Amino acid sequence: MTKSATSHLLPVFARVDLGFERGEGAWLVATNGERYLDFTSGVAVNALGHAHPHLVAALQEQATKLWHMSNLFKSPDGERLAARLCEVSFADFVFFANSGAEAMECAIKITRKHHAAKGHPERYRIITFDGAFHGRTLATLAATGSAKYLEGFGPPMDGFDQVLLGDLDAVKKAIGPQTAGILIEPLQGEGGVRAAPHAFFRALRELCDDNGLLLVFDEVQTGMGRTGELFAHQRLGVTPDVMSLAKALGGGFPIGACLATADAAAGMTPGSHGSTFGGNPLAVAAANAVLDVMLKPGFFDHVQKMSLLFKQKLASVVDRHPDVLSEVRGEGLLIGVKAVVPSTDLVAALRDQKLLTVGAGDNVVRLLPPLIVTEAEIEEGVQRLERACTALSGDHSKRAAVL
Ligand SMILES: *Cc1c(COP(=O)(O)O)cnc(C)c1O
Repeated sequence: MTKSATSHLLPVFARVDLGFERGEGAWLVATNGERYLDFTSGVAVNALGHAHPHLVAALQEQATKLWHMSNLFKSPDGERLAARLCEVSFADFVFFANSGAEAMECAIKITRKHHAAKGHPERYRIITFDGAFHGRTLATLAATGSAKYLEGFGPPMDGFDQVLLGDLDAVKKAIGPQTAGILIEPLQGEGGVRAAPHAFFRALRELCDDNGLLLVFDEVQTGMGRTGELFAHQRLGVTPDVMSLAKALGGGFPIGACLATADAAAGMTPGSHGSTFGGNPLAVAAANAVLDVMLKPGFFDHVQKMSLLFKQKLASVVDRHPDVLSEVRGEGLLIGVKAVVPSTDLVAALRDQKLLTVGAGDNVVRLLPPLIVTEAEIEEGVQRLERACTALSGDHSKRAAVL
């Protein structure tokens, strides 16, 4: 066999032919020197934008001290990060992982082990929802339940019962003697910025309480300020027993976390779970620095203000371009515009205008500015969207004229 590939990266991503060499705030500079407005934030990861001075300083300082220790020893900064996360949430315990999928793996294991520890090892099944996304490991893929991602990888892991989002009767019917918990995203990200009514979440909480189930929130995408509160469930007024975090937790440095109440985590004893890299000093330093910034008074007021402004302006773009866009969705700065044209065409047209966005399910384009985005940058983004829509309308009428 000759080695003929032009790229030696496993070809699992349909990458755009565009590379970047540096960033500042909401802006990215491509290798060819062109400037792009970044409304992807690395898929809701770079919540504080690129090269935030406080994060850069924290990581540089940690890099001179200690990179990695393993979990054989105490972790003073990890203790501090866990204590801070528990102080601002419902949780008593935190497990640090390296990604969203790993945080979710821990959430699934906690949920199953909880019942085993209480004498019910037969209760291992978890109710999930259509359009969900929980990760790409075999367990989180089974929880995701999407046929196109599962195809070819053998029988999906057993233990997940998927029902329609928002269908309370279906949830009730799915609860049986083997049910351990209910797993849901407060707002679906990958699924197309799809929400369920607040009342649905309150009903899930009640069902969990009545049936001894754990309520698990996947806040990998919604958590850490994306929806305008530190955690999206704070807006719902419903508290989970277990919650996963990842994307924005390290502001761009890989770290995930699974948070749980002491009761939920009852089965997690020494040896029941682990990770070599989880809670590594570099990752913990980054996440502590992210919290420093987000917990300053007024941080979430800014996110909510930018959200309102953005959604108002987007609504008027949708009104002007009904042949391109049909709807604005989302909370905080997890915003989706539902496209009438193929969403991939819209993402490409926006890229032509030097605005970077992310596709999602349901023919939606996600607009994910960093949470530190300014009013002027929101305005700039909206103008670029307007121009992209005009370009697409032109294409569309040209195509219609040809037909
Ligand atoms: C991104 C995401 C995951 C998976 O995170 P990875 O870091 O890619 O493993 C899980 N759940 C949700 C809701 C996500 O958005």
